[in-house]
Amino acid sequence: MEKVTDYFGSMVFDDRVMKAKLSESVYKSLKNTIDRSTPLDISVANAVAAAMKDWAIEKGATHYTHWFQPMTGVTAEKHDSFISPAPDGRVIMEFSGKELVKGEPDASSFPSGGLRATFEARGYTAWDPTSYAFIKDGTLYIPTAFCSYTGEALDKKVPLLRSMESLNKQALRILRLFGNTEVQSVRTSVGPEQEYFLVDRDLWKQRKDLIMTGRTLFGAMPPKGQEMDDHYFSSIKPRVTAYMADLDKELWKLGILAKTKHNEVAPAQHELAPIYTTTNIAVDHNQLTMEIMQKVALRHNLVCLLHEKPFEGVNGSGKHNNWSISTNQGENLLSPGKTPAENAQFLLFLVAVIKAVDEYQDLLRLSVATAGNDHRLGAHEAPPAVISIFLGDELTSILNAIEEGRAYDGTIKEKMHLGVDVFPKFNKDTTDRNRTSPFAFTGNKFEFRMLGSSNSISCTNIHLNAAVAEILKQFADKLENAADFDITLHELIKTTIKTHKRIIFNGNGYDDNWIAEAEKRGLSNLKTTADAMPKICDEKNVDMLTSQGIFTKSEIRSRCDIILENYVKTVNIEAMTMINITRKEILPAIMKFSADIANGISLKSSVSGAACKYEKSLVLILSELIDKIDREAIELENTIKKLKEISEIIPASEFVRDTMLSKMKELRSSVDRAETMTSKEYWPMPTYDQLLFGI
Ligand code: ADP
Ligand code: MG
Repeated sequence: MEKVTDYFGSMVFDDRVMKAKLSESVYKSLKNTIDRSTPLDISVANAVAAAMKDWAIEKGATHYTHWFQPMTGVTAEKHDSFISPAPDGRVIMEFSGKELVKGEPDASSFPSGGLRATFEARGYTAWDPTSYAFIKDGTLYIPTAFCSYTGEALDKKVPLLRSMESLNKQALRILRLFGNTEVQSVRTSVGPEQEYFLVDRDLWKQRKDLIMTGRTLFGAMPPKGQEMDDHYFSSIKPRVTAYMADLDKELWKLGILAKTKHNEVAPAQHELAPIYTTTNIAVDHNQLTMEIMQKVALRHNLVCLLHEKPFEGVNGSGKHNNWSISTNQGENLLSPGKTPAENAQFLLFLVAVIKAVDEYQDLLRLSVATAGNDHRLGAHEAPPAVISIFLGDELTSILNAIEEGRAYDGTIKEKMHLGVDVFPKFNKDTTDRNRTSPFAFTGNKFEFRMLGSSNSISCTNIHLNAAVAEILKQFADKLENAADFDITLHELIKTTIKTHKRIIFNGNGYDDNWIAEAEKRGLSNLKTTADAMPKICDEKNVDMLTSQGIFTKSEIRSRCDIILENYVKTVNIEAMTMINITRKEILPAIMKFSADIANGISLKSSVSGAACKYEKSLVLILSELIDKIDREAIELENTIKKLKEISEIIPASEFVRDTMLSKMKELRSSVDRAETMTSKEYWPMPTYDQLLFGI
């Protein structure tokens, strides 16, 4: 048996390999670039490229690719081989620093939301040395950022790196104010928990809806769903165990810290969580994880569904973004400290996050907006579309005490200064586990739970980092100019709590009463992508994002358009797929079934004069259903035609939200009813029982 420690990261050009393969001076300057973003010299790039190529060839690679994350939400790659002709007709293997650092893929077919005219199709990719290169399927993958020729971000990595830099800068200002002169950088870390479904591939092949849209557009509920809660954490079936073992191995080879795996709430649903790491690496790793999950599934004749809502009636799949801020010295800034002074610093970062989440609720909500995720948010299985923060009782009472000018132990103090005797020591792990909160403090990190399973985690972290950086900036501006640091700090924390405590909610987020209460508190409730996405263009959001250099104005507008277009196209494809399946598979099946019954009736009554009461009523019901289904399919076809006539993206998205989705629902409900009345031999596709309990 191969040992995990032997093959873990064996396909990654990581620090260990760099140290071994690069000269000391090259290693040092590359390290400087990675840790402190100092520009990379071309001679260094050449040396790194040569070492990378030799290492990759040793491992059997023949090609390299600049790997990037365009706005499609999945990754993109174009492979070039290392070969270069030699004068004697043979080839040599070459890879230069220039090829490592910059690539120019023809990018005209990636969505740019109008940022890049087609006549200027050129975009370029730029190496991100902070995320390690790796080998997959015989190709050396180089993580890169993707920009237009004029430097506008066309991807999800550039703004992420910008947001991390912004947070770094502002957090350092705060730490200096607390007397930390040693710290050099502050980074956010993320551990994304990933949910997914597995279905048998032979069954999957018979479902055009799964093939075309990733989710079932029809399907009556089986007699058993998830009501017994017997799947959650249950023992894993052998076929799934084999899949998970294979998956772990592939991920480990790529240096991905796959750690936890278990069965989830819905039947056929599972989860994988890695150990957390620096945010931009976590993003790259999550993209790779999703891709490899799907690839490995095929080897087991399974299909891995990453859609947020593959099945109606059982839970959909999400992703939890566990997020923290820490220094290069290893200090977690969201970890309550041991002394009151440390706690003052912790509380300042804590209230910064509270204020950021309150002021930029809409940005967090829209960072997870997709047609698929709209099925989950607010459907009593995922956090609602309303953002709130769970802090737990102890932390909440501490904040209350500060706001009311009390000491936490209850005694009233006349004049309080932070960092002296106000803050009690509080335990790290007193946070209860509230699974219904969209944004929960879990001891030393925040867990944002609104993400959909197929979302790139990039957008959420861009908005979160940027929002927190913005507030830290405001805090630093104030504190740097304070006459008395302690008093100003205390006032700042106190007023921040007062102004933003409306966002704190420790109760059950799935409760309808909470939604009413949230409305009273003035919290936003953006139920769909069509509601949420346009908010990115609100002045306060544009101001915040542009002033920090995360996005330009046109980048923001383009992102809004791209996401809304994606929403409209996704639903439109679903509608067309429904019509296709209805006309080509479902109606013919019901007609055949009812015709066979009718034939049976005439045969039986001519032979025996039987009344055939049940059969006759069934034929009647089925005929009426056939008419109804046909009518509803025509109506849906009409909405598809109408949608084509709407040229502006915002009205189009509203039409999808208000009309198309409800027509789809009506058609589905009739078809699902027909399914329950049709003999299973006639039903043209595998049913929910088979899909959910088939493995
Ligand atoms: P649960 O299901 O209880 O939320 P899991 O163990 O499934 O817990 O997932 C927790 C995730 O949080 C893991 O990915 C873990 O690595 C990550 N995590 C733990 N500590 C931190 C931290 N300080 N910063 C970011 N992520 C963290
Ligand atoms: Mg979790």
